[in-house]
Amino acid sequence: MKPRIVVTTHLPGDPIGLLREHPLGRDAEIIQLDEPRAPRHTDLLELVRGAHAILPHIPDRIDAEVMDAAGKDLRVIANYGAGYNNIDVEAARERGVVVTNTPDVLTEATADIAWLLILNAARGAFPANRDLREGNWTGWHPTQYIGRDLAGSTLLVVGMGRIGLAVARRALGWRMRILYCARSRKPEAELEPINATQVTLEQGLREADVVSLHCPLTEETRHLIDENRLDMMKPESILVNTARGPVIDEAALAVALQRGTIHAAGLDVFENEPQVHPDLLENDRAVLLPHIGSGSERTRRDMTAIAVDNLLQALAGGVPPNRVD
Ligand code: NAP
Repeated sequence: MKPRIVVTTHLPGDPIGLLREHPLGRDAEIIQLDEPRAPRHTDLLELVRGAHAILPHIPDRIDAEVMDAAGKDLRVIANYGAGYNNIDVEAARERGVVVTNTPDVLTEATADIAWLLILNAARGAFPANRDLREGNWTGWHPTQYIGRDLAGSTLLVVGMGRIGLAVARRALGWRMRILYCARSRKPEAELEPINATQVTLEQGLREADVVSLHCPLTEETRHLIDENRLDMMKPESILVNTARGPVIDEAALAVALQRGTIHAAGLDVFENEPQVHPDLLENDRAVLLPHIGSGSERTRRDMTAIAVDNLLQALAGGVPPNRVD
């Protein structure tokens, strides 16, 4: 078999070189799109035709139609990303296609960005920085640029998985009380060092000063933070999302920030990327980043190596390390 491998975008860390190092990749037909943007869905359907393996990234929607366009030889979809809500895992299972992701390597980088958002939302650093650069800073003044203290406050982690835990660990530096909600109880060995208490989402939202979202995007978590839940939060609280945009009802958040229902929000992800709700763009209480959670050099390189390894192991008929289905 001469496998056809489709890589849907340019990736750091030489994916083609890594594929070619493996006997299966050496003779493979490798197609890599080198566009700065994700391919349109119609182009994706063309691109994957006859593929044995697809290495997509987060903006690629790999649904049943794409799998059927690839055809009966498709063995593996090796996603570049920890989240895999862009892939219809059920459709893959029905077709006997293996789905993999790239967790772990991006945990620390993403936790750093969650904290960057928490700190900036608490202290209003982005608008202050803009004022300074635009020549609008008039000098130090006791009533200017007043933020909120984090030390000793309460953090709610929604989704105490890899990244949630890394964010909670960092909170110890601020002597924060840590609450978390998840569907299952997490191992004592992980919780004991951070002294985390499991609560219901509603209880956590009522008590927390900082709410940080780290659950995957599923049907259950879509709009998990809606108007009703935003109303439960404290007016001085901060909401941070480095998970997936649709976990928050973005329009409801824009209204909540305008009304002062919550103090500020820090967002790395959005409902309709790359679009951002216009009211959030206008609001200084919204700290906005263009989905850079995993964006450190080493992390992005390691993600490539892991995605390639998953792809090759599945193509070889083995069980890849990061199978999600
Ligand atoms: P993970 O280790 O699988 O952790 C996710 C946690 O969410 C699990 O512990 C899970 O626990 C919990 N969870 C699932 N459904 C839940 C629900 N309905 N309510 C509350 N908790 C729920 O994943 P991870 O590596 O930490 O990554 C988390 C997410 O971050 C990914 O899915 C991805 O979308 C996102 N991410 C974003 C970036 C970025 O660039 N911004 C980078 C990496 C990852 P239970 O099953 O017990 O509920």
